[in-house]
Amino acid sequence: MGRQVIKMGTPLKRVIFEPGALDYPLGKKLYHTFREKGLEILFTSSYNRITGIPGKSMRESFMEAKRTLVVGVRRSRRLETCKPSAHYQLPLATSCPGMCEYCYLFTHFGRRPYQRIYVNIDEILAMAKDYIEDRKPEVTVFEAAATSDPLPVEKYTGNLARTIEFMGNQPLGRLRVVTKFTDVANLLGLDHRGHTRFRFSINAADIIKRFEHGTPPLAERLAAAARIIKAGYPPGFIIAPIFYLDGWQEQYRALFQEIARQPLIAEHNDLTLELITHRFTKKAKTTIETLFPKTELPLDEEDRSFKYGQFGYGKYVYPAKVKTEMESFFKEMVATYLPQATIEYFI
Ligand code: SF4
Repeated sequence: MGRQVIKMGTPLKRVIFEPGALDYPLGKKLYHTFREKGLEILFTSSYNRITGIPGKSMRESFMEAKRTLVVGVRRSRRLETCKPSAHYQLPLATSCPGMCEYCYLFTHFGRRPYQRIYVNIDEILAMAKDYIEDRKPEVTVFEAAATSDPLPVEKYTGNLARTIEFMGNQPLGRLRVVTKFTDVANLLGLDHRGHTRFRFSINAADIIKRFEHGTPPLAERLAAAARIIKAGYPPGFIIAPIFYLDGWQEQYRALFQEIARQPLIAEHNDLTLELITHRFTKKAKTTIETLFPKTELPLDEEDRSFKYGQFGYGKYVYPAKVKTEMESFFKEMVATYLPQATIEYFI
């Protein structure tokens, strides 16, 4: 089957401002920035109802939506829980300009893949502070990437930098970030005080090439991880999704060998690993097959076990026997190549 090549970066084409966004200094600043860049600027009169993104087919609308940025105000006063990596999601943005065929956001944002950023960061952080107070004297952990990859829009908002410094000031607050992107320059000099764990989402090089369109290659992600380590952040990797495809053992061994070649990473005494096997929902499968009709992803329900998930919908996971085989292989890889690292979970 032919591969679907999508260029890196999916540059922005239009920006839509939601009601109230221009009442905030960041909203005003963004308006002027995008106008100067010559981007199409639109306004919507109702919150959370985005219209005006062109496209004749679902695939075309999807591509256009990925080039659309919505500037909005986060209104909800509630934070969702975030198992297994943190206590709560901290939404700084939604979606991402990448085009991974197995994007974990398909189930939630399949029909709304446009990127959204929030301009009321002070209010969002004040809400996080309330949640920290409520759990005192326990530590509260927030995940900044549950609904987006926060790095690609950081150059516009600076919201992640603000949040990292905010958490640095919270004795009982911790942040976890995960990204596939590499533009970390503005985060290196921050006063994070070790309260933000910065993880990179990686995979075997061939899997990245085949399925993670519009994202940086493995070598660049590892180079960015090394910069983050030099800046003193506690580091981590999420290896996901892990596939049981022909040659999987060789491919993942090569991944571990590649990491092990970088002493700064491999010898770090607080490196965490989160290992997630491939899974899909029925809804995500339908979206993937519409958007990427030539996909080579393994999406055969017959090869999987069905499992009910946290939000009430079921997912197709690898059967227990396959999962056990993969888990023991990954444990062996970690013991061999990254003996200092801690596996936080294998699911
Ligand atoms: S980088 Fe992450 S959020 Fe962006 S498309 Fe890929 S999987 Fe989805």
